[in-house]
Amino acid sequence: MIEFRSVTKTYPDGTAAVADFDLVIPPHRTTVLVGSSGSGKTTLLRMINRMVEPTSGTIEIDGASILDRDPVKLRRSIGYVLQNGGLLPHYKVVDNVTTVLRLEGTPRRQARDRALELLDTVGLDRALADRYPSQLSGGQQQRVGVARALAADPNILLMDEPFGAVDPIVRAELQTETIRLQSELEKTVVFVTHDIDEAFLLGDQVVILEKGAQVAQIGSPSEIIENPASEFVASFIGAERGARALRTKRTDHGTVLVDGTGRTQGVLVDDLVEGGA
Ligand code: ADP
Ligand code: MG
Repeated sequence: MIEFRSVTKTYPDGTAAVADFDLVIPPHRTTVLVGSSGSGKTTLLRMINRMVEPTSGTIEIDGASILDRDPVKLRRSIGYVLQNGGLLPHYKVVDNVTTVLRLEGTPRRQARDRALELLDTVGLDRALADRYPSQLSGGQQQRVGVARALAADPNILLMDEPFGAVDPIVRAELQTETIRLQSELEKTVVFVTHDIDEAFLLGDQVVILEKGAQVAQIGSPSEIIENPASEFVASFIGAERGARALRTKRTDHGTVLVDGTGRTQGVLVDDLVEGGA
């Protein structure tokens, strides 16, 4: 479990990115932080692995303050996926993944074997292992980024708009893949996006943020869709979008997300994990 308690971040230039923020992030679930650009999502995410230090307040992982942890070790124990994959361009795909393992002292041969397994895990052909990142498509690079983030077998995975730079079809593939992966791995995932549809598809818990990381609403996708807490939330989730407006529909197989035309947009996972946290 990750817990933010009265966390504030004011950057040196005076920007109040996060003000008095509280949140409990349950283990083995996906929590999505969703909000417009500049609402403080990246700042929140980077405070979890101490790439950004809070101005005040505390963040705990499993009851212990992260300020008592060695920042480098903490960072290595948490997977982090960035928008552009964040791959090292001069390293082959496989070496982008093994770097993390080599830093931890895993012998070269063993690290390579593990990296190849991780390529399988994220649905990449092993034949791509010896290519350079520039020789892969955007979607493939993103998968390598996920493989690398998983290399140290972290309990926590931070994902910052990981699919923001790929086209809609690849994006949909990566979203589906993320749902599959998470049902296998059950990491504690903190996922940042500005796309509310993506938030509803991937999140067990969705946190809608306004400027300064003010929490507009927290809940499961169906709770938020069925009961928006304010005009702001209603507008943000597109309750006014007519044919685009999403609503939930219960079926024998669980809850699905349908648009205004009745077309299914996805399956909600929150039904499957109700009370699981
Ligand atoms: P988001 O990820 O939701 O777009 P960010 O956390 O990146 O939001 O930014 C929140 C606010 O903090 C914005 O106003 C942004 O301009 C500001 N900010 C982010 N990083 C810095 C920084 N290093 N120095 C000063 N201001 C920053
Ligand atoms: Mg951001």
